[in-house]
Amino acid sequence: MHSLTAMARVYIETYGCQMNEADSQYIADRALAAGYSLAQRPEEANVVILNTCTVRDNAERRAYGRVHHLKLLKERDPAMRLVVTGCLAEQDRDRMQRLAPHVDAVFGTKELAQLGDRLGAWRTEYDALRIVDDAHLASEEFLREPFGGKADGIAGAFSHLRAFVTVQRGCSYYCTFCIVPHVRGRFDHRPMDAIVSEVRTSVERGAREVMLVGQTVNAWRDAASGADFGDLCRALTDPERLTFISPHPKDFSETMIRALAGVPSMNPRVHLPLQSGSDLILRRMNRKYTRAAFMERVEWIRRYLPHWAVTTDIIVGFPGESEDDFAQTLEIVESGVFANAFTFIYSQRRGTPAARWEQIPHAVVAERFRRLVDAQNAVTQAYHASKTGKVSRCLIVGTSKKDETKLAAKSGDNVTVIAPKPTGYDEGEYARTPWLDIEVEASHLWGCTGRVVRRAERVNEEGLAVARPPVNLLLLSSRA
Ligand code: SF4
Repeated sequence: MHSLTAMARVYIETYGCQMNEADSQYIADRALAAGYSLAQRPEEANVVILNTCTVRDNAERRAYGRVHHLKLLKERDPAMRLVVTGCLAEQDRDRMQRLAPHVDAVFGTKELAQLGDRLGAWRTEYDALRIVDDAHLASEEFLREPFGGKADGIAGAFSHLRAFVTVQRGCSYYCTFCIVPHVRGRFDHRPMDAIVSEVRTSVERGAREVMLVGQTVNAWRDAASGADFGDLCRALTDPERLTFISPHPKDFSETMIRALAGVPSMNPRVHLPLQSGSDLILRRMNRKYTRAAFMERVEWIRRYLPHWAVTTDIIVGFPGESEDDFAQTLEIVESGVFANAFTFIYSQRRGTPAARWEQIPHAVVAERFRRLVDAQNAVTQAYHASKTGKVSRCLIVGTSKKDETKLAAKSGDNVTVIAPKPTGYDEGEYARTPWLDIEVEASHLWGCTGRVVRRAERVNEEGLAVARPPVNLLLLSSRA
């Protein structure tokens, strides 16, 4: 069964890093300007865009899996267009047409403006065009995210509260494991004026938190004035909260960290990718810092930003990693430096030097990975437990994905906090007063749970007291 739609719709599914989130936001803005609305599900859209990632082998496999699943949707609705963009599109431009001929268009990471133009050109074709509205189709498993993990549609009642602003594209550092410089090109820093103006526009459109995004964001320089990343952060006075991802340890100077301490809107968290605790492996990775230099930056953070959380990325099983090299990484993790860590097993990427080197047996890597995860989990648990009994000011994310009676929110140090929806909860009202004070009652490995005690319009306001949700008597009696 089909229905008519008056407005063309685009669905954007995003995989991978915040760079891709920022690119998806740009695509969404161009689509909205061209007269599309944003669909919540692929089967409701005229144009389905997969913004892909290829940073690890499983990301690439997931992207191809999703492309193949969506073939069924194209067969049901031939007018629907399937577009692939992002790093996989850049890497596999020719190969993709061969592997997935049902894909209508492929746009590399530097061709997003052309994608925006193309959306505009397609727009008129979709006026009052039929879209699939088939109850059977809508219930099919294949349209859900088929492999679990992170892939988000961009539409949402609270999505305007957070904005990604790209300050720099590409990377010239050529870490030997990384595909990014090969698919996104060398450093390209945006001018300061353009960034300041985009941040201001985002805030005018409702953003409460702005995330500055770049592959090595703190390497940013303004070619005209010579301003560095610390100067840029100080110049951005519009957002209620400011945050950034992903800095490179090499590009943090003591002066820059002191400058960040002078920006009151800055979220109290810095992501500092360690990758390895061994100098030998850091050299093989071409990371451009030593273990001592990394720890010096941690010391500066402790000195000037004592309440900030430090999070990190770590790769286990990089070619040549001995048990002693791994022990040096584990030692740093066990010392409790990191509030949280993204831990990865090394993944060979085509075209990178490390992919050609002798690999470590999988069983060895898996065993090291387990030890590393166990060590970091203990630290993360303790960090989350330290929030119990305290009130945390969080920015609302929306209804919890696992329980629609609850809200999800994020604290400034990027911890997920879940709480029951307060009595009289109204989505529109909470979008206007999105700052929640949540009293943390329990901690978990993934974050915290608690109850909303206040909500505020502005981050620095005290806000209104919130009524407790009604007690669930059935639940109480079942516990008795
Ligand atoms: S710094 Fe290294 S890991 Fe980061 S994007 Fe550049 S090459 Fe990749």
